[in-house]
Amino acid sequence: MAVDPRHALVLFSGGQDSTVCLAHALQRYAHVETVGFDYGQRHLVELESRLHVRAQLLEKFVHWGAKLGQDHVLDLSLLAQLSDTALTSEREIEMNAGGLPNTFVPVRNLLFFTVAASVADRRGLSVLVGGMCETDYSGYPDCRDNTLKSLQVAISLGLDKSMTIETPLMWLDKAATWAMTEDLGGETLIELVIEHTHSCYLGDREHRHAWGWGCGLCPSCDLRRKGYDAWLAS
Ligand code: ZN
Repeated sequence: MAVDPRHALVLFSGGQDSTVCLAHALQRYAHVETVGFDYGQRHLVELESRLHVRAQLLEKFVHWGAKLGQDHVLDLSLLAQLSDTALTSEREIEMNAGGLPNTFVPVRNLLFFTVAASVADRRGLSVLVGGMCETDYSGYPDCRDNTLKSLQVAISLGLDKSMTIETPLMWLDKAATWAMTEDLGGETLIELVIEHTHSCYLGDREHRHAWGWGCGLCPSCDLRRKGYDAWLAS
């Protein structure tokens, strides 16, 4: 595949989805930087996973490492003020009346992309890549394809230059995401994702499963396990 000459910024949390997005961007674009948001995650595991994944990509995929540029971590602690949810306090994860988990921080993804666009503009990057997905999504309306397409238009108008929002996982289910991981980096990337990415809402790094680390019970672990099993069975 020919390399796209544009420079990209990946919204990178250290989770499975954003790691696959980072691999995708490293294969596709000429230069790739990463941005992460520190908003008082209950567990710093996520932020540590980001560093491990980046280091592993540099070590295991030398041709990608040459394209991997700076990492940016921004303090978005205001999110914790906006919502007292299971993501930022010790409450159990539960579903609210609208069918959304109480980890939901309204329009969080719009904020992430808007802040990322500001970073990208300063850094001379013109593509924002994020792992949002409609297929398996938990009902987050700010992850929808139309939401993000309209945000791309708003950001491009606001900057008075083209800023592309790319969401390579938008129409994939979790099994297809594992298949995409294998296509991008074979068994090496699969192992990297299993061992070094983090998805568990409870920050569990004590229990190791075939699909990776986690409590095995929370909605995020459940989704990851089911996807992995479906991929193996396919
Ligand atoms: Zn879990």
